[in-house]
Amino acid sequence: MSAGQVLISRDEIRARTLALAQEVTLALPPGPVHAVVILKSAIFFGVDLIRALGREASLGFLFASSYGDSAESAGAVALSADALGRVTGQNVLLIDDILDTGNTLAAAAETLRALRPASLRTCVLLDKPSRRQVPFEADHVGFPIEDVFVVGYGMDFGGRFRTLPDIRVYRQEKK
Ligand code: 5GP
Ligand code: MG
Repeated sequence: MSAGQVLISRDEIRARTLALAQEVTLALPPGPVHAVVILKSAIFFGVDLIRALGREASLGFLFASSYGDSAESAGAVALSADALGRVTGQNVLLIDDILDTGNTLAAAAETLRALRPASLRTCVLLDKPSRRQVPFEADHVGFPIEDVFVVGYGMDFGGRFRTLPDIRVYRQEKK
């Protein structure tokens, strides 16, 4: 398995996630939170963040597909909300791995808002501000990064590299 250079180490991910969890907890209204993780790629970050919140949390999931097997976004986002759980009247924390063009989070936030949560906050581990196509900013960001394609810590290329413990810049192998 070759996935290029380490961009963010496992220790950096861990430290930043703990700090983010504190930041998020302070910003959330008191009481339980309904955490919604966007599958599949935010699964590792979502679990680590939610465990560190120090709040009672119920769990929901949105399944998003926009990338298919390529490194370029297809633009349109398909969201499946079968496992969303109860959103109406809850304080909802929406969690994704990367905010890139903004299409996924904009669509996900719209889906959730239509269900009238008591409040909605968004948290992403990585943000690529230079790639934005729709105006969307997350309330909490782990690391802003350059326009590079990353893998590891849940993030894949064609289904590979998700289980790498650190975040790496993906380099296509020359044939
Ligand atoms: P957006 O809809 O904002 O363009 O893309 C968001 C989703 O695209 C993220 O949740 C993430 O799964 C995927 N994505 C964006 N950039 C990257 C990247 O550099 N590497 C990987 N593996 N996925 C990415
Ligand atoms: Mg994702």
